[in-house]
Amino acid sequence: MAANLLDYDLEGLAVLCERLGEKRFRATQLFRWIHQQGAAQFDDMTNLAKSLREKLKTDFEVQAPKVLKQQISKDGTIKWLFDVGNGDAIETVFIPEEDRGTLCVSSQAGCIVGCRFCSTGHQGFSRNLAVSEIVGQLWFAEHFLRKHLNTTERVVSNVVMMGMGEPLLNYEPVLNSLRVMLDDHGYGLSRRRVTVSTSGLVPMMDQLGRDCPVALAVSLHAPNDTLRDDLVPLNRKYPISELFAACKRYLAAAPRDFVTLEYCMLQGVNDLPEHALELVKQVCGEDGNNAWCKLNLIPFNPFPASGLTRSPRERVMAFAKILTEAGIVTTVRKTRGDDIDAACGQLAGDVKDITNVQKRITRRRTIMLKPVVPSGPVFHQDVRHA
Ligand code: SAH
Ligand code: SF4
Repeated sequence: MAANLLDYDLEGLAVLCERLGEKRFRATQLFRWIHQQGAAQFDDMTNLAKSLREKLKTDFEVQAPKVLKQQISKDGTIKWLFDVGNGDAIETVFIPEEDRGTLCVSSQAGCIVGCRFCSTGHQGFSRNLAVSEIVGQLWFAEHFLRKHLNTTERVVSNVVMMGMGEPLLNYEPVLNSLRVMLDDHGYGLSRRRVTVSTSGLVPMMDQLGRDCPVALAVSLHAPNDTLRDDLVPLNRKYPISELFAACKRYLAAAPRDFVTLEYCMLQGVNDLPEHALELVKQVCGEDGNNAWCKLNLIPFNPFPASGLTRSPRERVMAFAKILTEAGIVTTVRKTRGDDIDAACGQLAGDVKDITNVQKRITRRRTIMLKPVVPSGPVFHQDVRHA
């Protein structure tokens, strides 16, 4: 079977070229063709010697996961469902805004953490994604969008690892994928514009801080350990005090001076004023420091098996007010697409009874993409963002 060059970061390609008896700069050329130009055919890589192209053709390929479905919303948001084999499917969402284009990527098919409010969690873990499947989501989206927008400019300016899966439980492939995203010869994204979201794997947060500090989001969802043990079972292993200590350690190397704490608002579960007051206490700690984080309140994206409901808007605003008055920077994501029932992982569910995590992505204003002819049915917007 041909090896997939999307699995390699630049260093990996350099080693490969050396093995093929080629100079290092050939790896850079190859890498740029693949990631900057979106080339998948070796014959298109015109500045590579014919002999090298022939060698590559025999044993290698550039292959992103196959698109099973594409949904385009009226506001330009696009979702893709990718086939990753054996009945597994993953999702990727592109959110165009006035000043940026954000791609939300998946890191695993399924997830073992099992958060109560997450449909990916309810479905269990299937497998880790390879670098070619993680980077492949960006490779595909970037070059698809450039073609359809008829531009040679970069379209995806931000990447958030907030799709299916827990990125820090698929560490090496995620790390190598980040390297490709950040590489100036690759996508050249700045560390501030790449966000890893985690449910709180403390040792791996430290590891990421050492290996490749990018922006960090932590899924908190509860103001105390009793409730968080229930909502995010990983809390039994890494309770809030340890998690917050890890966030603060992370900041020493991080490209931003805050960690985003994500808090999904669940009616009657974690959204009462007493929860907000408790959260203020947790965040401020003994020393009253509230500058190390930002709170992002996310409307729950409901799915039947959860037995949970979304907090009413007024309750979210009251919660936000308590935090803001305590000096904690707080944002509330706007919800859109309540008219829709095709939620993000329900597509994946079509493939293997996996209902997926909803995508929750920060949003300001929306740039309209020129109409794109979708390869599959057009669904409605169901991505919730602010
Ligand atoms: N596993 C990682 C990243 C993927 S989940 C993590 O948990 O951080 C990305 C974000 O979506 C997390 O904050 C997660 O808690 C949130 N999320 C999951 N299910 C959701 C739902 N049904 N509604 C709203 N947000 C949800
Ligand atoms: Fe996994 Fe994140 Fe969903 Fe929790 S919220 S089950 S960690 S994907």
